[in-house]
Amino acid sequence: MMKVNPKLLGEIRKYGAFDITACFNCGNCTAVCPLAAEDISFPRKLIRAGHLGMEDKLLSGSEPWHCYYCGECSATCPREAMPGEYMMALRRYQIAKYDFTGLSRIFYKNTWVQILLTLAIFVGSLAVYLGYSGDFGALAGLIEHLFPIYIGIAIVGYLVNFYRYNIVKPLGGIKLSWKPKHILDIFLHGFTQKNFLGCEERDLWRWLSHLLVMSGYTLTLVISNLHLLEPLSRQYTPFDPVSILVGYSGLAVIVGGLSMSIRRLVKNAQSSRFSHPTDWLFVIMLFLIGLSTLATLVANIALGPGSSVLALIYRIDLAVETAWIILVVPFTKWIHIFFRPLAVYFRHVKNEAAAKTASA
Ligand code: SF4
Ligand code: SF4
Repeated sequence: MMKVNPKLLGEIRKYGAFDITACFNCGNCTAVCPLAAEDISFPRKLIRAGHLGMEDKLLSGSEPWHCYYCGECSATCPREAMPGEYMMALRRYQIAKYDFTGLSRIFYKNTWVQILLTLAIFVGSLAVYLGYSGDFGALAGLIEHLFPIYIGIAIVGYLVNFYRYNIVKPLGGIKLSWKPKHILDIFLHGFTQKNFLGCEERDLWRWLSHLLVMSGYTLTLVISNLHLLEPLSRQYTPFDPVSILVGYSGLAVIVGGLSMSIRRLVKNAQSSRFSHPTDWLFVIMLFLIGLSTLATLVANIALGPGSSVLALIYRIDLAVETAWIILVVPFTKWIHIFFRPLAVYFRHVKNEAAAKTASA
């Protein structure tokens, strides 16, 4: 039996700026949505579920992850119900529900707590790193090797719940699809953000900014989690493979992040009219991580691994990384990069299960 939660809409409203109580079900939003299809009829279907308090339906739907927030539905809604922003709020709501620690829920509702804690971790770890008198390169290696364990636990926790709500509960058990195309789609959508272009065919710059940020951010995570950059023990040249990786990832997040920030500040597109405070925390940390890693590399190339200036910059870089890994990566929109491609795969699994039932 479907569980009804009369307080559901009030709860979701805490995650974004929308007013779907104004919706009179005209269907314009679904008609204009370039990504709505026969099997993903959003956003109206989810608006209806929100009105009726159907919590399980909202938690088991991967639809918010197919939406790229072009804002076309919000722009054409005659009631200014902001269906596009409702989709973004649903994503934050799902993340909060799937997070087994409960911290995402606290942070989304009280972003200042997350900002203050991030700042405290940065200042605290910087003080420890500045006061450390041993081999700092070895300490940095140890810390960076602990990062993937921490991130891995967070990601597995989210994904288990995402799978449980999306597949196990609605389909009544563990279901997978082994078709190569369905598995390849996970990587195709993860790396290229392919559906973005379907959403806004003419806004190539938004797609490119998004792609730069996603690729740069993912690469930065790989560089730090695999401890690829060892600036205190190695002399890098500008064309060293590690220099190229660090250079690309740093510039990609700075350029992509700058472009996204300008759009959010100018607000000339529907998709950038509303920014949740966690969106800003994400963007600011993007800059800091890109800048501090690039500055570490440049100081190494220009001054050599024994430089005291490099030693200071590297300690700042590691303090930024520590705050970023502990509080920003698992609890902001960064985690989206895993949800989107899996939502595409889950859709295949659901369609396959539906086709089997129909032919049975
Ligand atoms: S366009 Fe607006 S009023 Fe019409 S169904 Fe969508 S949200 Fe409701
Ligand atoms: S924001 Fe764009 S992709 Fe998302 S539901 Fe609205 S029209 Fe569709």
